[in-house]
Amino acid sequence: MSSSTPTFPARPTVTLIEGDGIGPEIAAATVRAIEAAGGQIDWDRQLAGMTAAEKTGDPLPAATVESIKQHQVALKGPLGTPIGAGFRSVNVALRQQFDLYANVRPTVTIPGVPCRFSGVDIVMVRENTEDLYAGVEHYVDARRSAAESIAIITRYGSERIIVYAFEYARRHGRKRVTLVHKANILKLSNGLFLDVGREVAKRYPDIAFDDMIVDATAMKLVVAPERFDVIVTMNLFGDILSDLTAGLVGGLGVAPAANIGDGGCALFEAVHGTAPDIVGKGIANPTGLMLSSAMMLEHLGQADAAARLRKGIYAALAGAETRTGDLGGKADTRGYTDAVIRAIS
Ligand code: ATP
Repeated sequence: MSSSTPTFPARPTVTLIEGDGIGPEIAAATVRAIEAAGGQIDWDRQLAGMTAAEKTGDPLPAATVESIKQHQVALKGPLGTPIGAGFRSVNVALRQQFDLYANVRPTVTIPGVPCRFSGVDIVMVRENTEDLYAGVEHYVDARRSAAESIAIITRYGSERIIVYAFEYARRHGRKRVTLVHKANILKLSNGLFLDVGREVAKRYPDIAFDDMIVDATAMKLVVAPERFDVIVTMNLFGDILSDLTAGLVGGLGVAPAANIGDGGCALFEAVHGTAPDIVGKGIANPTGLMLSSAMMLEHLGQADAAARLRKGIYAALAGAETRTGDLGGKADTRGYTDAVIRAIS
């Protein structure tokens, strides 16, 4: 089980999937901001989603998969999945293809972004491959009188995600890992995840460890979110709670995400959708993809550029004149991006 930091060339090539809907607009803004921050990246532009299906007949073309295989790192805008694609979601297919088992979503209160809470600084580490999302479900009979979905939790899958969470905590100077579960009811599957968590925690005496039942976690996250640091949990709870934590700091528009596998393979993405209602209007907010790019720059060993990019984003978000309309500001995508770049330089 590898959790060591991978090394990349000084100027790596990254697969860029602009995506559907507002994807090309926010990707163009993000590429400009990365360049201004001094990020050293060559882009290999590839297609996926609805755009790929329209242009090539395949929502996940082999050339895109090959490009990620070769470069190991991808930046991706939102994707739609055409009906009849042969899989539930292009996003899920990409995670499965590259065994991107760790979904990492940091949520930090950003001055200027309207929200109800302050002092939030939580990193949600969600297991991405198992649990109820393993795809094991069926009707019990032809009349569809009942259906079963089976949660798969393995020792292997539990250990690698929990180790990832502790290693992340150590690398980022974090103090506590909280494991979220429902082992009081789901005694075997969630009990296994909790047992593995307790075993792994012993190897990290420098990081505090506790566990919390998921329903209590949901309440505590909105009563005292500042109590949390790194949270590690299974796929279904992580899916729900990571949107909840995004809501604590202003919603999906400012939420970055990384999907990480072994050996440095990683896909960084905006978590919001394709926003079909505002396509082509020039008003899309690129913050989610920009913040994901900052995570990507850190992953590529370009921490200085990541810090400059974040500084620019935070400065532009702080002012109503420079924030985008979805955050109560007056700027369009270009105006906001210009403000990010001005603040960087
Ligand atoms: P999809 O089917 O791809 O999930 P959706 O419209 O159902 O698309 P979102 O794309 O998440 O879901 O959009 C929800 C609402 O939030 C829409 O009104 C959309 O315009 C807005 N929205 C989403 N992302 C952004 C963004 N980056 N900037 C501005 N508005 C956004």
